[in-house]
Amino acid sequence: MKTQILGDGVAAMMLASYADELPNHEISIVHPSGAPITRDHMLGFWKMDGLEMAVESSRTSWSKWAIITDGNKSVMHSDKHAYHIMHKANYLHNCREKAEQHGVKFIEESEMITSKSAQTFDSRPPRASKNAMLQHFLGQEVEVDKPVFDPSTAVLMDFRVDQNEGMHFIYLLPYSPTQALVESTLFTTTVLERQFYVDAINEHLRDHYGASITNIIHEEQGVIPMGTLSPHDDTIPGIGANAGAIRPASGYTFVFIHQQIQRAIKASKQGKSLRFKRPHKAVDVWMDAVLLTVLKNWPRQGPKLVGRMASSLSGDEFVRFMSGQSNWRLRFKVIMAMPKLPFIRGVSKHIFRRSEKVVA
Ligand SMILES: Cc1cc2nc3c(=O)[nH]c(=O)nc-3n(C[C@H](O)[C@H](O)[C@H](O)COP(=O)(O)OP(=O)(O)OC[C@H]3O[C@@H](n4cnc5c(N)ncnc54)[C@H](O)[C@@H]3O)c2cc1C
Repeated sequence: MKTQILGDGVAAMMLASYADELPNHEISIVHPSGAPITRDHMLGFWKMDGLEMAVESSRTSWSKWAIITDGNKSVMHSDKHAYHIMHKANYLHNCREKAEQHGVKFIEESEMITSKSAQTFDSRPPRASKNAMLQHFLGQEVEVDKPVFDPSTAVLMDFRVDQNEGMHFIYLLPYSPTQALVESTLFTTTVLERQFYVDAINEHLRDHYGASITNIIHEEQGVIPMGTLSPHDDTIPGIGANAGAIRPASGYTFVFIHQQIQRAIKASKQGKSLRFKRPHKAVDVWMDAVLLTVLKNWPRQGPKLVGRMASSLSGDEFVRFMSGQSNWRLRFKVIMAMPKLPFIRGVSKHIFRRSEKVVA
C-alpha cells in the first residue's frame, strides 16, 4: 500500500524511522507547499521505554528537576526516567538516516499521488478555536557573567515572575554553571510582544541569580495550542499533533506521538488498517479540561495548583502523570493534592460550559 505523510516534522519522521515495522506500506514523506521555513528548537521529554533513539539524539539529561513557587521549592528525581533535551533538527536528521535505510521516499507536494491508489495522513498543525488557551514562549540559550546555575537540576517551572498577564513561569535548563536555556512561558489566550518575554528572562536572572547575560547563543519561540483542537483538513486523517497528540493541559507532545505511532504499528501488525488515534485516555483529557478551565478563569491559582501537585508526588509518579501512564490511584492522589475550591469551581464551570454547548 502506498502511504504518504503530508509534513516532515516530528511525527512524520518518527513514523518513517519505523518503516521497517510496516512492511506492507511503501512510505513517502511529503514536504508540504506553503510550509514555513524549518527552525530548530529544543525538545524535552522524560526517558521511557522505546525512546532509545531520542535518548541517543539528546544533548544532555537531568535526573533531578525542580518546580518553584513563591513559597515552595519541590525537587523531584528519577534515575529511571531522566529528563532529556534534544535539538529537534538532530532527532529529525537521525530519523531520516534510518528512514532512508528502510527505503522511505522524500517528495514534494506536487509529486503526491492524489488517486485512491495511495492513502494519505496529514501531519500539518491542527487548528485552535478562537479563544483557545495557548502555551506561548520565548527561550534564549545564554551565557551569563558568573557561575550561578546548578547543572544537576533542571528547573521545569519557576513561578517567581510577573503573573499579571496570566499563568507565567520560567523554564531553565542549566547546561553548565554559566550556560542555560532560559524560557519565559505563559498559558493564556494571547501571544505577547517579544520584548515581554525578553524582559522577563533578564529580570529573572538578575533577581534570582544575580547574573546578567553576556552572550545569546540561540533564540527560539513557540506557540502550542491547548485544549480541544480541529484537524488541519477535515478530509484527511491526521497523525501527530494533528491527530490529538498534544496533551491538552501541558503541551507535552513528543512522548504521546511515540505512543500513538507504536499503537498504530501494533494494530497494523494485527492486520488492522493504519490509523493514528488520539493517544490520551478520556479521563486524562477530562482532568486536563478542568485544569485549563481553572488556569483560564483563575490564573493566579496556577502556581499553587502545580506547586501542590509537585510536592505530593515522587519523581516517578510525576513522570507517569505527565506521560499519560497514570492509574486511578495516581489520578486520585493528584486530585487530593489540588486546592479544593478552585478545583470544584473548575469542575462546575467546565460542566456548565459543556451543557451550554449541548443546549446551543
Ligand atoms: C518551539 C517549540 C518547542 C516545543 N517543545 C516541546 C517539548 O519540549 N516537548 C514536547 O513534547 N513538545 C514540544 N513542542 C511541541 C512540538 O510541536 C511537538 O512535540 C512536535 O513537533 C509535534 O510534531 P508534529 O509532527 O505533530 O508537528 P511538527 O513537528 O510541527 O510538524 C508539522 C509539519 O507541518 C508543516 N507545516 C507547519 N505549518 C504549515 C502550514 N501552514 N502549511 C503547510 N505545512 C505546514 C511543517 O513544515 C512540518 O512538516 C514544542 C513546539 C515548539 C513550536
